[in-house]
Amino acid sequence: MKPIYEPKGAAKEYGDLALNIYTGCPHRCFYCFAPSVLRRDRERFHSDVRPRENIVEETRRQLEREGITGKLIHLCFTCDPYPTGYDSTPTREIIKLLKEYGNRVQILTKGDGSRDFDLLDANDWYGVTIDGACEWDMYFGKLNVVQEAKAHGIKTWCSYEPVVNAENVLDCIFRFNRSFDKIKIGKLNYHPSNINWKQFGHEAEALCKEWGVDYMIKDSLRAEMERK
Ligand code: SF4
Repeated sequence: MKPIYEPKGAAKEYGDLALNIYTGCPHRCFYCFAPSVLRRDRERFHSDVRPRENIVEETRRQLEREGITGKLIHLCFTCDPYPTGYDSTPTREIIKLLKEYGNRVQILTKGDGSRDFDLLDANDWYGVTIDGACEWDMYFGKLNVVQEAKAHGIKTWCSYEPVVNAENVLDCIFRFNRSFDKIKIGKLNYHPSNINWKQFGHEAEALCKEWGVDYMIKDSLRAEMERK
């Protein structure tokens, strides 16, 4: 078993290496691609959430065997490192291991990772997903945790991907631009949407430039922006 792997395709835009800790995710996002990637029944994926078998020990073995060090490792692509309502101790153990071997960690969650901020430092990233399904004031809880991460000296980032409501996301970029050290913006793929991606992409980019935000437009959104 090699828990640490190189993501392919669009996932590569998030990091060179990644690790998935759990078998499923309870957050039930309608656009979740993980069940298809893992070829798992969608309902089972959302309800059967366990640490992958021997994940901590297998990660230690791989780190030792392959001498993986000095890398930025993304947690996680096919699950959430902080599955709400479940014990996230395996995530804590994995972070300890990755850091022990001299790696950096890039977290992306819809949960709350504050319990592990004592393990992270200025070389690590704590990130949250904001898809715009809710209006900006519904994200205050997430922002409080992000501020806590900043207070610990951890770098913070936001994944505005996939965008499900363009207006709400533009509002969030405008209002929260000081909260994040970096933002990444990407479109909703493989689901119907009435968003004008070209217009949205240009408006989002103009906002980032206006407010001096360090931003990245994901390839599929950039392609829409450049469409004639
Ligand atoms: S948080 Fe991520 S892994 Fe979990 S259901 Fe949503 S998209 Fe899927």
